[in-house]
Amino acid sequence: MKDLGLYLHIPFCASKCAYCDFYSLPSSDLHERYVDSLCKSIEMISKRHKDALFTSIYVGGGTPSILDSALINKLLCSISENLSVSDDAELTMEANPATLSKEKLSVMRKGGVNRISLGCQSVHENELKRISRIHSFEDFCESFALSRNAGFDNISVDLMYGLPEQTLSSLLLSVDKISDLSPDHISLYGLRVEPDTPLGRDRHLVLPDEDIQCEMYSRACDLLRTKGYLRYEISNFAKDGKFSRHNMRYWEGKEYIGLGAAAHSYLDGVRYAYERDAAKYIRSLEDGELPLPCESSKIEKSDLLEEFIILSMRLEKGLDLSVLSEKFGSDAKSKLLERVRPYIPKFVKEKDGHISFTTEGFLVSSTILSELI
Ligand code: SF4
Repeated sequence: MKDLGLYLHIPFCASKCAYCDFYSLPSSDLHERYVDSLCKSIEMISKRHKDALFTSIYVGGGTPSILDSALINKLLCSISENLSVSDDAELTMEANPATLSKEKLSVMRKGGVNRISLGCQSVHENELKRISRIHSFEDFCESFALSRNAGFDNISVDLMYGLPEQTLSSLLLSVDKISDLSPDHISLYGLRVEPDTPLGRDRHLVLPDEDIQCEMYSRACDLLRTKGYLRYEISNFAKDGKFSRHNMRYWEGKEYIGLGAAAHSYLDGVRYAYERDAAKYIRSLEDGELPLPCESSKIEKSDLLEEFIILSMRLEKGLDLSVLSEKFGSDAKSKLLERVRPYIPKFVKEKDGHISFTTEGFLVSSTILSELI
């Protein structure tokens, strides 16, 4: 059977965070029709991919936990009734603390969800307000406890650095308090100010300067290490090997199907995406068709090599030089080794047949990568 991943996009949020440019609608009366459309899409792909075995499923958004219990149940039933899902599959659902309840968590557990990803971003109320998060740290702690009590033994928490009003010590306190709760996985993302967002349009925006942001990242990595979290990807840290198997699929260039407005897929050497338009997605499924992708591109061999370098170098284990030779020939390996030489040992390590970034290298990874590809 063919090993595949599935991504389902839920494009609804209670309100829009100031930094976010993901496709999500701040309020909507489309929940039920959208979930029905996703269920129809799942039925359709089950017929098209009869030989598929899904080993990772990720329900992301938006805010999947904004759906009511009955809709969450409908969506999860559609997955289990239509798709072959491996016994040990990872099934993650993203949740925003202000939208979780005991009842929803119980429906998720019964429906096969075995990993919850909770957005926290910061433990400080001023920082949360500044980026328009709708929850407090207290709400987060409550949701975290509810999730553990519901039986989730794999919880991931998102944190951010480089936020307005954030200082090095406030970030370290966030990392400290979150790791004290002992989630199984922590993601730590640097804020990216996208132009078409309230933060991007804020002419008075003041952010920690670049040097402070570098220090924030490296000190947070050190703290996470002392708290038992292994960095396995530039922004991701796990305890007891609980890596995000679905995200590993993206970084290892494996195939997945994305369903829903704005969802991306990678299948049979082609990357494609659906339009950022939930109403259009619904109309198409109500007419009995999956929408046509709004973008689609066949990945050429040269693009595959670039992707392989960029994605492998995000990982702590780095790029496996023997796999590089096997897939792209020994010339590709010699060229890469020649280009990477000036960055060894300060920014790049070469060890056990792999090349990988040091912490200092991760801080300037995009500059170095542009020289490597
Ligand atoms: S909850 Fe997540 S998806 Fe929704 S607006 Fe905030 S960051 Fe974006």
